[in-house]
Amino acid sequence: MSFPLDLEPETVDHLGRRAVEFVTNYLRALPTEPVSHFADADRLVGELLGPPPEKPGDLGDLLSTLGTAAGYGLNPAAGGYLAYFPAGGLPSAAIAEMVAQTLNRFTAFAALAPGLVAMEQGIIRWLCVELGLPAGSSGLVLSGGSMANLVAIVAARDDRLTGDPRRGVVYVTEHTHYSVSKAAHLAGLEDSQLRVVPTRDDMRMNPTATAEQIAIDRAAGLYPFLLVATAGATSTGLVDPLDELGRLARREDLWFHVDGAYGAPYQLTERGRALLAGIEDADSIVLDPHKSMFLPYGTGMLLVRDERTLRAAHAGDGDYLQDIGGVAELPDYAALGPELSREWRGLRLWLPLQLHGVAAFREALDEKLDLARSLYRALAAEPRLELPWEPDLTVVGFRLRDAGPDAAAIHRRLLDRINGTGRIFLSSTKIGGRYTVRLCPQGLRTSAAHVAEAIDLIRSAVHDV
Ligand SMILES: *Cc1c(COP(=O)(O)O)cnc(C)c1O
Repeated sequence: MSFPLDLEPETVDHLGRRAVEFVTNYLRALPTEPVSHFADADRLVGELLGPPPEKPGDLGDLLSTLGTAAGYGLNPAAGGYLAYFPAGGLPSAAIAEMVAQTLNRFTAFAALAPGLVAMEQGIIRWLCVELGLPAGSSGLVLSGGSMANLVAIVAARDDRLTGDPRRGVVYVTEHTHYSVSKAAHLAGLEDSQLRVVPTRDDMRMNPTATAEQIAIDRAAGLYPFLLVATAGATSTGLVDPLDELGRLARREDLWFHVDGAYGAPYQLTERGRALLAGIEDADSIVLDPHKSMFLPYGTGMLLVRDERTLRAAHAGDGDYLQDIGGVAELPDYAALGPELSREWRGLRLWLPLQLHGVAAFREALDEKLDLARSLYRALAAEPRLELPWEPDLTVVGFRLRDAGPDAAAIHRRLLDRINGTGRIFLSSTKIGGRYTVRLCPQGLRTSAAHVAEAIDLIRSAVHDV
């Protein structure tokens, strides 16, 4: 059956129902589906690489192809997914997305969609207040933490790096996410301009060592300009001492950037607020709603203390834009970041927050903190395991005691055995060069039952390995 490109509303209704049916069937099956399916996909990949046909297809057939394709790989939306950072993909955000993409309004300039931009900006303002940023703060919804780190570093460079840019120095630790060094590279800095300062014994950035390194660099005629703290390190979930680091940055007149891609949303909880004390001193904060606010991929945020710093780094103009005015109280997002045309990511945040209410998010994050604690306690009680840190947030790590020289191979075997069940999925990292299994029970659908199953599977795998 063929349809005109611009579907009749009746056809949208008909096809939309088929798509919704696909989605609801998927969600119904999700609890019993395996978390991972790494079977040989060569034939499927070969078929799917083909070009689209000249003749119209049938939606039922196409959805069935999609279902098959989605059946391969790793599913971050499954409750048993305890690897990396789980990504729930709130169904309410998917509904928002269908609406937003149908409206498809141009939100780079507030005047062209003042209502829609106000909805997005309201969420940004609310998060600025939650994180303790002052009046004049603002931000941008981007595609993820990597883009947000890039925009922040460009703003920091333009705001603080006066003089010869090759003399600027940025302070990070070995636990800083690699997107920060990638961003520094994209912002025109050399690797030699990144100082990896030592962490304390507890793996957090060491303010004393950082201060010493800043003094050494200044004495060498360099320009320290940016201190990057991490609120929730990717390997460990640990939070750097933001309070002390913020004071140090202020004293030394460095831009204080907090990469809270994973951790900053925990500010919505009481325990998180206590841990993140000092984040309010940041010049810029990255947070990823597609990690710790359960939203679909493609939703990262940058918040800045002073909106003017983003504007100074990104504003531009073109003759073809001369007809567009401004709106009081609303920024033009095109002037705050690298994108001109952009998808309207605002509804993906606005609708779930309005529909469920903020308390539902606070409670869900609190539940995940509890899950991580019970997971930690159960694994710490296993005599054959050692846990290199006590979790701040929701990342738990363990390794086998006395694994000997083949530790990496033994751990990999352990991981394969656990992941091979298809019930749960764990990932790993290196801590001080040592192989460490890593779990993050933060998924939207991860419950106490998943954590109990994980503990059982780990116990028996440790016994057998
Ligand atoms: C995930 C992560 C990033 C990168 O974010 P993306 O959204 O994957 O681009 C940056 N920093 C930290 C601390 C992260 O955990």
